[in-house]
Amino acid sequence: MPARRLLSHRAPRRVATVSVHTSPLDQPGAGDAGGMNVYIVEVSRRLAARGIAVDVFTRATSSDLPPVVEMSPGVTVRHVSAGPFEGLGKEELPAQLCAFTAGVLREEAQHEPGHYDVVHSHYWLSGQVGWLARDRWSVPLIHTAHTLAKVKNAALAEGDHPEPRLRVIGEEQVVAEADRLVANTQEEARQLVEHYGADPRRTLVVPPGVDLDRFTPGDRTAARRVLGVPADAVVLTFVGRIQPLKAPDLLLAAAARMLEDDPALRARLQVHVVGAPSGSGLETPRQLEELAASLGIADLVRFLPPQPPDRLALYYRAADVAVVPSHNESFGLVALEAQACGTPVVAAAVGGLPTAVRDGVSGVLVGSRDPAAYAAAIRAVLARRPLLAAGARRHAADFSWDRTADALVAAYASAAAEMAGAARRALRPVVGLPLGTQVAW
Ligand code: UDP
Repeated sequence: MPARRLLSHRAPRRVATVSVHTSPLDQPGAGDAGGMNVYIVEVSRRLAARGIAVDVFTRATSSDLPPVVEMSPGVTVRHVSAGPFEGLGKEELPAQLCAFTAGVLREEAQHEPGHYDVVHSHYWLSGQVGWLARDRWSVPLIHTAHTLAKVKNAALAEGDHPEPRLRVIGEEQVVAEADRLVANTQEEARQLVEHYGADPRRTLVVPPGVDLDRFTPGDRTAARRVLGVPADAVVLTFVGRIQPLKAPDLLLAAAARMLEDDPALRARLQVHVVGAPSGSGLETPRQLEELAASLGIADLVRFLPPQPPDRLALYYRAADVAVVPSHNESFGLVALEAQACGTPVVAAAVGGLPTAVRDGVSGVLVGSRDPAAYAAAIRAVLARRPLLAAGARRHAADFSWDRTADALVAAYASAAAEMAGAARRALRPVVGLPLGTQVAW
């Protein structure tokens, strides 16, 4: 590491955030836009509120996009040209990383040295870019993986494609290079250490948050009135990108199972699926529509396109239960948002979901992928809903993006201090030793 400048142990003034494959300006809930986009938006805003300017570098996916967009005060989105604007899948992006990195380095080169204090990369593609930027700028690289290929491949949904070896190798490289690895949960930190050989001293847990001003408990009946849902309906809600990993099909199967056990429920049951297709396998809602038809519940399922946050809050509030039956989740922001709105959650007991949901307190975790087990868990939640709704609100209140931002600022500062210490040691004059002497510090 070249000792280009010595950093003092202070909060950064300017952060380069790298988000190659998806933009914080995208509407989450479709394609590649999901929790990571929300994370970057919420954290960037809060860093800016702490006086830290944030530049988010993302790939330009349309010729209409201006090169620079001020997303909110102190947060600038910089669109980097790398490859054709449209029609490039995430799996094709590794070939564009050189062009993307050049765009990032050229932007920095227009400023005085030391323009950025920290580079924070999101997802492994961005980690590859951040790695080079870190070396060129002599600033720490903070990396958040969001998902890990080895973990994903160990819990593949039927019809899903395994993540390629290329990604595994790329992730291993970033893990080895990053000055700090930010995990959402203890479980993710363990996975980084055990599956990727991460240095535990550089791996820290920073839980994500939830916007408690936006996702507030509200009157369920009033929310239903706005959405045209009968007051006495039993509403089960799925929110997220429609992809095999998220398993909305399991919710449909569980709903069908509930009707087998209690045919009278048909008059009141509604299933809401909010989100649009992403990834492989269940590629269009049409496949889910066909599944609903084959299960005999097509008339009970409403498919809704991705919703902006305020409208999404209405869907959470209108629900009796939010269901998150994913094969894996590094965290599961949807679970937290639903709880903040006072809606208990039935979730798979995988990945970060046991942190996002308190089993028996704010919802129920399900250890099986059997629709009957989900049907039983949903019934258990319906039977104790008022108690679990209160538990859900309390649990969600333990999370906040402000706390996430504070922990990240501390991580940035400590990584910078460590780097400054290493640089000082590297610069310490060595006098009177014969050339070639090995010096151990
Ligand atoms: N989301 C949204 N509108 C939608 C569906 C989802 O804004 O119609 C957001 C949702 O609020 C959440 C994010 O997308 O913050 C999904 O994050 P999560 O961690 O649940 O899943 P991921 O997308 O990261 O796999």
